[in-house]
Amino acid sequence: MKTQPLPTPRWRSRGAHLTAMVLAIAVLFLIDTTTRYEVAVSVFYTVVILAMAHVLAERGLMRLTGACIGLTWLSFFITTDGDYRAGLINMLISTVAILITGYLAYKAEAARVAAHDAQERLQRLSRIHSLEGLTTSIAHEINQPLAAIVTSGHACRRWMEQEPPNLDKARQAVHRILGDADRASGIIGRVRNLTKGAPACTRPFVFNAAVREVLALSQAELQRQSIALRADLADALPLALADSVQIQQVVANLLRNAMEASAAVDVPRRTILLETLLVDDKIVLRVSDRGAGLPAGAQEKVFEAFWTTKHEGMGVGLSISRSMVEANGGHIWAEPRAQGGAVFAFSVPVAQEEAAA
Ligand code: ADP
Repeated sequence: MKTQPLPTPRWRSRGAHLTAMVLAIAVLFLIDTTTRYEVAVSVFYTVVILAMAHVLAERGLMRLTGACIGLTWLSFFITTDGDYRAGLINMLISTVAILITGYLAYKAEAARVAAHDAQERLQRLSRIHSLEGLTTSIAHEINQPLAAIVTSGHACRRWMEQEPPNLDKARQAVHRILGDADRASGIIGRVRNLTKGAPACTRPFVFNAAVREVLALSQAELQRQSIALRADLADALPLALADSVQIQQVVANLLRNAMEASAAVDVPRRTILLETLLVDDKIVLRVSDRGAGLPAGAQEKVFEAFWTTKHEGMGVGLSISRSMVEANGGHIWAEPRAQGGAVFAFSVPVAQEEAAA
């Protein structure tokens, strides 16, 4: 499976890190070369390696380690002052310290890459999992425009077969056909975006519109389970700054959990309230249900991977939701609903210009 590349640091901050690294190395080399053998400054190359561990990839770290060892040796050969024996021992100690630090940083970086890949795979799994529940809705959603296209197609043929043909009416029917075909392809596009695991793409988007898209895909399932959903979306929200597809996936996850919690109680209690609001310069989405509520003491645990109370559950939906929300600069939390049930909420940052305005 192809996984997304690791989020690379922004060019400007990467450039700043590299410049600082070159400067630090140059200063260390100068001090190490111009001071006596006994002064073992080269051991501080280990700090440079540690500082660059998150900036350089594995190969870069190996090169940096090699370069630091090379410079340590070069300083030793250029230095003329001091006790040669002490200098030799210092140089060997520094070399071993740099080697060990480089090796550990390399290992840590490799583990980070492996963890990232595993998380990507889990995210895909969760996307597919959350889509299972939506399959019925998607079929239902696509059926509507398709049925409308067939109806308008028949109407168009009738207007054309009239003597004389009623071109005006036929044209209107063709218009309707085009509109419905657009709607169907829009639905397919949305589903494809959710499944294909597109790389993270942070940009400003209209939060409520993204929420409405998820709601549209969930309508049929809500109806099938006799769940009443009220959407209370705040007017005039600023643009959100995040990966809209990831955010939609989080909304779909919270909604699916709320539906599952609601399906387990009597029909009159099957109500979900979905709200969007602006709190302290962040957009907040809250999903409240009147289901059985959170298991005792599980307010934090529900976000742990593989923690589930459901027979068929995987326990990954909320943990992936948390990593996605946090990767987008937001925060996710759960709280009991005062009159029974649970509230799950998350926040996302607003686009800078909007916040400034
Ligand atoms: P799964 O749904 O596969 O169990 P999640 O990570 O989505 O995985 O959820 C973890 C657990 O959190 C669930 O098993 C359930 O115990 C609890 N939970 C999630 N949403 C709700 C909710 N709306 N009401 C009550 N409990 C919930």
